[in-house]
Amino acid sequence: MDLKIVLLGPPGSGKGTQTERLVAEFGFTKISTGDLLREAVRNGTELGKQAKGFMDAGKLVPDDLVIGLIKEKLAGLKGGFLLDGFPRNLEQAEMLDAIADINLAVNLDVDEQAIVDRIAKRRSCKQCNEVYHLATKPSKKGGVCDKCGGELYQRTDDTEAVVRERLRVYKERTLPLTDFYKKRGILVNVDGQGEIDDVFDRTLKAIKKSRS
Ligand code: AMP
Repeated sequence: MDLKIVLLGPPGSGKGTQTERLVAEFGFTKISTGDLLREAVRNGTELGKQAKGFMDAGKLVPDDLVIGLIKEKLAGLKGGFLLDGFPRNLEQAEMLDAIADINLAVNLDVDEQAIVDRIAKRRSCKQCNEVYHLATKPSKKGGVCDKCGGELYQRTDDTEAVVRERLRVYKERTLPLTDFYKKRGILVNVDGQGEIDDVFDRTLKAIKKSRS
């Protein structure tokens, strides 16, 4: 059975980093709504223009915009996939149910202070979206992406005030999804604190256990 995973967790819980590792391990398709939206903003598309204000303020982008993106990406997709940053609320989760058979929800658990610390030191590649951290995962050449040579930058929504708002929105809108998937019996919780390699080991074990 193909893995069809949603990756849940607060902003800064390491979803992007773990997603990259999981994609390398399992070879499934990654769909990150945050990355897709940032790309749309960079390219100045109509979607990007509509989404930018919400993103800069730490709010959720309206469902119809994001759902359109997801439908487009899932249409005709063969094999397993991992959704990073989607769904973000119950409406999105219900819509997803109508178009895909999600068989696993992985929830990364990280405490709030660790999140604020992590995000303040996060740097992202403008070109390929690879994520770095000034202390725990620095790029070899400061300011330049190891993977593609792109310029590293701090996301406009990675400032402390916006992070606090994103956390508030997460608790109000996204956290209830853990119950939604728990009731289905497909939720696994993973301790997202500590070293990236350790979190990845725990995530892999949890995924393998859920399939056995
Ligand atoms: P992320 O990279 O997942 O932290 O997403 C960055 C920002 O993009 C969020 O703070 C939202 O403004 C927007 N966004 C990403 N995914 C979604 C989604 N599924 N629904 C609504 N807004 C989203």
